[in-house]
Amino acid sequence: MRTLGLIGGMSWESSAHYYRLINQGVRERKGGTHSAPLLLLSVDFTEIAALQHASNWTALGTRMATAARTLSDAGAEAIVLCTNTMHKVADAIVAAQPQPLLHIADATGAAIVRGGHRRVGLLGTAFTMEEPFYRERLADRFGLDVLVPDAAQRAEVHRIIYDELVRGVVRDETRTIYRTVIAALVAQGATAIILGCTEIMLLVSQADSPVPLFDTTTLHAAAAVEFAIG
Ligand code: GLU
Repeated sequence: MRTLGLIGGMSWESSAHYYRLINQGVRERKGGTHSAPLLLLSVDFTEIAALQHASNWTALGTRMATAARTLSDAGAEAIVLCTNTMHKVADAIVAAQPQPLLHIADATGAAIVRGGHRRVGLLGTAFTMEEPFYRERLADRFGLDVLVPDAAQRAEVHRIIYDELVRGVVRDETRTIYRTVIAALVAQGATAIILGCTEIMLLVSQADSPVPLFDTTTLHAAAAVEFAIG
């Protein structure tokens, strides 16, 4: 198998799921006691979130590039960046080292196309929902029409990610808010919803949505399994 290089800690609540999902996937595919050869470089999310909210994407690009180079130097054969938001600096990772970046939006877009959807709702951090790096990749590479919640709902979805989900706080009241946001996107014509933040799967499950959910954590981990198995 090929060795994966995971950049995690953004937050570790979802990185822990990546570790489990990738190893489960390898065991399902190869059987027996097989598990995934991988390296995990995990960061302090307080530093990352501070740089994000200061809009210091140059520093974040340098941090992620250094992490990716460290993993590649240590033997990783592909980079798995365990967060949607930080794919804003994907180009810095690609430029910094020779191994492929398994882009989370590509794993997601391919699954949505396989599911026969074209108009999808996107939930994630404000960076992911509002800036072009994520939506445009889905539009340009997969022909998707990506809807986002209105400004007030985007602010609430974003706040909940940073104030609750990355801290491991999962509340029924919060799930109700996400259900309302999902329903509004469906009312606008979304036939599927992207859980475009790797922690949303801690809170929301298919029972909370009238249309299919595409969970980026699960889809990205599955892409990593495919790469590892080769
Ligand atoms: N894990 C989240 C994501 O997938 C948010 C945390 C971060 O900003 O990296 O976007």
